[in-house]
Amino acid sequence: MTDIFQAHEIRDIIKINYKYTMGGQSKFFLELMNNKKILGTKCTNCGKIWVPPRISCSDCYVPAEWVEVKHTGTIEVSTIVWFTTSAFIKNIPYATAYVKLDGTSTALLQGIFSENLVPSKIKKGKRVIAVFQKERKGTMTDFFFVPEDEFERWISKPEYEGGE
Ligand SMILES: [Zn+2]
Repeated sequence: MTDIFQAHEIRDIIKINYKYTMGGQSKFFLELMNNKKILGTKCTNCGKIWVPPRISCSDCYVPAEWVEVKHTGTIEVSTIVWFTTSAFIKNIPYATAYVKLDGTSTALLQGIFSENLVPSKIKKGKRVIAVFQKERKGTMTDFFFVPEDEFERWISKPEYEGGE
C-alpha cells in the first residue's frame, strides 16, 4: 500500500478588529472628514506644495507647513480598473489617476468615477473636481474625483456632496 499524504483542511474566517494611527498625517484625514478640506504641505524653504502632504520637504529636508488646496485639478496619468478587492468591487469599472490639484507641485493618486467611463474622459490634461461622501470616516475613500462636466450630477445624488 502506498502512503499518499493527504492534508486535512478546514475552511474558516478570521475577523480582526484593529486600529492604526495616521501619525503625522492625521490632520489631512481629520480636515477631510470634518470640513471637506484637502490639505497639502508647503515647504518653508522652496515653497513646493506637496499633496499628499509630507511633514518635511523631500527636496530640501526642512519642515513643511499645512496649507489648504483647491478641489479642482488636472489628470496627469490614469488607468481603468477592472480587477480589485472586495472593498471596491461594486464600483468597477472605475478609474484611478494621478491628479495634480491646482496650485500644487505633486500629484495625488485617487479614484475617478464617471457615469460614462471611456478613456477619452480620463486622459492626461482632463479637468476633474472632488466629490465627497456625506458620511465620511477619515479615509482616502471619503472623496473621489469626477470629470468637471459631471460634477453637478454627482453632487445631486443623496450619498454625495460637493466641497465648499
Ligand atoms: Zn523644499
